[in-house]
Amino acid sequence: MSGISRRTLVNEVGGLILFSFLPISSAKAAQLVDLRIWPSPEYTRITLEHDVPIPFKYTMVRNGSSVKMVVLIEGLTLTTKLKNLVSKQQPNDPYISGITASQYSSKTVQLVINFKQDVDPQVFSLKPFGEYKYRLVFDLYPAVEKDPIMALIRKEESEPDAIGRILAQVAEGQQRMEENRAEAEQDSIGDLIAGITSGNIVPMKPGDLGYMEQPSKEKPKSSKAPVTKQPKKEQPKTTPRRGRERVLVVMVDPGHGGEDPGAVGKRYRTKEKEVVLSISRILVAELNKVQGFKAMLTRDRDYFVPLNRRVQKARAAKADFFVSVHADAWVKPTARGSSIFALDTRGRVSTQNKWLARNQNNADLIGGVNVTRHDKQIAKILLDMSFTAQVSDSLAYGKKILTEIAKINTLHKSRVEQANFAVLKAPDIPSVLVETAFISNPQEEQKLRTRAFQRKVACAIGNGILKGFGRSGSLS
Ligand SMILES: [Zn+2]
Repeated sequence: MSGISRRTLVNEVGGLILFSFLPISSAKAAQLVDLRIWPSPEYTRITLEHDVPIPFKYTMVRNGSSVKMVVLIEGLTLTTKLKNLVSKQQPNDPYISGITASQYSSKTVQLVINFKQDVDPQVFSLKPFGEYKYRLVFDLYPAVEKDPIMALIRKEESEPDAIGRILAQVAEGQQRMEENRAEAEQDSIGDLIAGITSGNIVPMKPGDLGYMEQPSKEKPKSSKAPVTKQPKKEQPKTTPRRGRERVLVVMVDPGHGGEDPGAVGKRYRTKEKEVVLSISRILVAELNKVQGFKAMLTRDRDYFVPLNRRVQKARAAKADFFVSVHADAWVKPTARGSSIFALDTRGRVSTQNKWLARNQNNADLIGGVNVTRHDKQIAKILLDMSFTAQVSDSLAYGKKILTEIAKINTLHKSRVEQANFAVLKAPDIPSVLVETAFISNPQEEQKLRTRAFQRKVACAIGNGILKGFGRSGSLS
């Protein structure tokens, strides 16, 4: 909404609250292109796509337990198409119980949306983008948020000044990131020592390539204390691991969703948003079988989650790691293989990676977002943040994942790439984006559709994460 707060647009009309975004005036007759409904527990979206801008008004009517929204759209006529599209509404929609369309006046169509529970609507219009024409969007959130992560995010979004809180969260996250790095380093040293004592690894001598002094496992003793050499047999078989009891939270982000299909395969018209959701679901299920891991999805069905919110969800869940799952596409059908990206904030990226970043970041424009004050606050904070530690960690985790993926698929790029992807911009959470395979390559599109390949990719990503955090276990 261009600079005008919603409150200034609220009128009290006979006990009803009337929101009016555009004045109803004589408008050019509009053609309905499509009406899409994306139900999800997070929010249900109704998108009305049309060919020219349309003036509209909406009113929430609350009467006891009955809640409905009445929408008046000028310049639209009631057609069989509109009636049919409205009837596509699913009975299992968490919010909508039914929609009716009727001719309100000669030039105006009335939509009545009945709700199963009280909703907090966000209504906005979008200009044409990509293959979409004008869109009128109704995002219907629950009036009372039950999901703890969404409750936190929406509370922040409604705060007039959330900067202090976001900064505190980021500082906390950065602390967590450092602890994990220390633990993973500790573990790799521990594994080395365990290997030496079990005779699997021949210890290196000073002067050998890459030799490093082993850090002391004991607290430094006072120089006055008598030095007693510990008998060898009393040494623990495995090195005690610090922070071992802490559960690591992994936020798995299936790219795209809802209005944003992502890339579409040419051979079978496979949608990226669908295959990446399958892969992500397997990854989450497998990681959750490993003790000490808790994995979550940013979306668990086909609806759009704005890029910022994917990051917000990771932060609200106090995630230790964020992985966004995608399928690549390129104009040449021969392009193939997997690749991994970490964030690049240096601005010295290749032209191709710049193009990729623009393409990825367009997801919000295709998916359709209502830019909030909160989003602007976060964007401002990020400008001043250092990403050095996050990027360095992300590259390290990315390398582990790439090594695992190399076992199951051709690599498109043999090292972790960097690009300025909005979804990787959490200064406090190591974040990578995995391009699992090229959906634009007919052979890889075919593979991406199979459960077997989806499983292989998911397990490879999972194994890379386990190794990155220095945790044992193997997914297959
Ligand atoms: Zn993608």
